[in-house]
Amino acid sequence: MPSKDELRILQALDLETKIMKTKQRIREWINYYGTDGVYVSFSGGKDSTVLLHIVRQMYPDIEAVFVDTGLEYPEIRSFVKSFDNVTILRPKMRFDEVIRQYGYPFIGKKQADTIHGARNSLRKGVYSLRLMEMGISIEEATEIGLKLPSEEMLNRYTAACKNSKYVMPKYKPLLFEIDFDISPYCCNIMKKSPMYVFQKQNHKVPITAQMAEESMLREAAWLKYGCNAFEAKHKISNPMGFWTEQDVLLYIKRYGLTIASVYGDIVYKTRFGLIYEDCLCDTDCKLCTTACDRTGCVYCSFGAQEEKGESRFERLKKTHPRQYEYCMGGGAYDTDGLWKPTKEGLGMAHCIDELNKIYGPNFIRY
Ligand code: SF4
Repeated sequence: MPSKDELRILQALDLETKIMKTKQRIREWINYYGTDGVYVSFSGGKDSTVLLHIVRQMYPDIEAVFVDTGLEYPEIRSFVKSFDNVTILRPKMRFDEVIRQYGYPFIGKKQADTIHGARNSLRKGVYSLRLMEMGISIEEATEIGLKLPSEEMLNRYTAACKNSKYVMPKYKPLLFEIDFDISPYCCNIMKKSPMYVFQKQNHKVPITAQMAEESMLREAAWLKYGCNAFEAKHKISNPMGFWTEQDVLLYIKRYGLTIASVYGDIVYKTRFGLIYEDCLCDTDCKLCTTACDRTGCVYCSFGAQEEKGESRFERLKKTHPRQYEYCMGGGAYDTDGLWKPTKEGLGMAHCIDELNKIYGPNFIRY
């Protein structure tokens, strides 16, 4: 198993060495599964555009696969369609249907999983590990009248919480003070599931542009399996696992790669916020995009509370007002008093207002 130190050493390598190592990982994967046994998972974003460029330099006929969730910027879909040999998949449910059935994707995937599980436990009147992770003590559970499991089970919960990175009392108010559900299932339904069906039907394994720096979950997966997860249940190659966003931007700039127009241009930004076409050798000078910096699903709220500067929703309001209206507008209470999307819109303004009442007016800006 690779260590955190190894990951940091790899992350600090120069771009040319990273490209060489990435090509090595791709070669290993394709030597094992064959060119007909793999595909590139292509989102139309800058990371997977770089990946596809590298892979197709080595193996021009590799298939790319794009999941059209209906949540991408229109520019991303057009960009994807400009490539040859891209298979387009569609999920079984629409985004509004996923939210209606399970809840909105707020905070983060792992946190949403805990919040969803804990709210379900409350509804069932049963104390659970999820509730303990959210800061509901055994005493409090007894006071609320929740049914407690055996002592042995409670000891297991306590031990699990001691070692868990995901204990999050900060989000305890979300158990009682919001009138909408939060859930982690959207990605599974909208993106992963269509890919798994494709993999199964076509006997193919993916090559993706996932990077360890993107999230704790991705770093944990890299530390478990490295770039090529031959041993994992779902076989996956992440040959850019040790890249950083700066590497991706540098690759695009250095090799003159065309990326989706929604990003704008790639420029250098100094620590004083000045923008230049070329690097001024300022150590704090960083590459950035002049328009969107992320192009995932436009309505996704995962991680929105972490944003500094202009938020994704403030930007969406300016660049895609129609999509913004749909995202923030609409919504109504169902017969159980839960806020849900309607055909007029997803009703996210209401959810954000609820969250901002708890965590402050700037928790999520829209
Ligand atoms: S990125 Fe967000 S909106 Fe897109 S599928 Fe995943 S959870 Fe859903």
